[in-house]
Amino acid sequence: MDERTKPVSVQTLAARIGGHESLTNAVIPPIHMSATFLRDADNGYSAGYVYGRTDNLSVQQAERLIGSLEDAEEALIFNSGMAAATAVILALEKPTHIVASQVMYWGFRSWLLDIGRFGHRVTFVETSDLDAIRRAIRPGETGLIWVETPSNPLWTITDIAAVAAIAHTFDAVLCVDSTVATPILTRPLTLGADIVMHSATKYLNGHSDLIAGALCTARKDPLWTRIGKTRGQLGSASSGFDAWLLMRGMRTLDVRVRRQSQTAAALAARLATHPAVSAVLYPGLETHPGHDIALRQMAGGFGGMFSIRIKNGEAAAIAVAASVQLWQRATSFGGIESLIEHRASIEGEGSPCPDDLLRLSVGLEDADDLYFDLAHALATVS
Ligand code: PLP
Repeated sequence: MDERTKPVSVQTLAARIGGHESLTNAVIPPIHMSATFLRDADNGYSAGYVYGRTDNLSVQQAERLIGSLEDAEEALIFNSGMAAATAVILALEKPTHIVASQVMYWGFRSWLLDIGRFGHRVTFVETSDLDAIRRAIRPGETGLIWVETPSNPLWTITDIAAVAAIAHTFDAVLCVDSTVATPILTRPLTLGADIVMHSATKYLNGHSDLIAGALCTARKDPLWTRIGKTRGQLGSASSGFDAWLLMRGMRTLDVRVRRQSQTAAALAARLATHPAVSAVLYPGLETHPGHDIALRQMAGGFGGMFSIRIKNGEAAAIAVAASVQLWQRATSFGGIESLIEHRASIEGEGSPCPDDLLRLSVGLEDADDLYFDLAHALATVS
């Protein structure tokens, strides 16, 4: 490959998305906010834009960027990660049996638990266990496998390529929630997944100032067409302003995720030997059961999320979260600021999260500053 044949890298695409605007030569594309568009004299819409619920150039620019980062045929952005995830289920053609990760974002798990009212059935399994997936599949009924990897908040790793092969043997679709890995570390469509989902609220935007979601597809098939139609009918696309913010965030996705992964790896390794910590859950540690798969399917890092279990139990874990000064006690993750959360207090019924667990989202602060703050808080419960 020489300089003429090398495809433009994702870093370059992200930095330059939108091009410049021709009216003013502005380097940054403008925000498109119009709710409606002029009809031509012959009653047509030659520009292709009719109404803001379905047509918005800023939204399309953000979609083109996410789509190229994920190697997708097409992408759609939504006004939340939940809107994106539920659009897949709402677009299923007929009552379907779904196999889903036992460990996943609790909000979507609790929505899936109630899925019977749409005629669907769900079986939750540990998707890092391929035999458990095979056992859960009901041939002829299972139409969707939903996997979150690394899975929130235990960070188990599911082998995407292996699950794609299982799904396709049974004519099922594999959808991967890749919010934590981001397209910088894993591109599930290149491993055989059919749809990738993101809570773009997290790393894609990266600044904790936006709620958004994204779906990316390997092919524009009838399910994808129904997903797009569902989004238009429910009015769940992002606004032009939100799409523009998302593009601004994605310009720096690569540098943020690589730095956050580096800091998380350093902190996880240091905390693994801390006397107040009984376990560190991070796929980057060699002791993690999914480490070998993570090495294969995560390129360039293991992500900015990890959890620690506190030796002296739940009250001690809550006390650590109360004692930190730099880490901020808040839900969500993937922003430039480091967050800490006692996860069991927020997760709903049936959560596999132990009550001594603290979830950590590593931001862009200095690694030593973050470690010393946490070590100081851990000393209060040692
Ligand atoms: N998927 C994961 C892994 C999440 O962590 C979240 C939210 O925390 C969601 C999906 C839902 O996304 P949103 O909050 O943007 O609706």
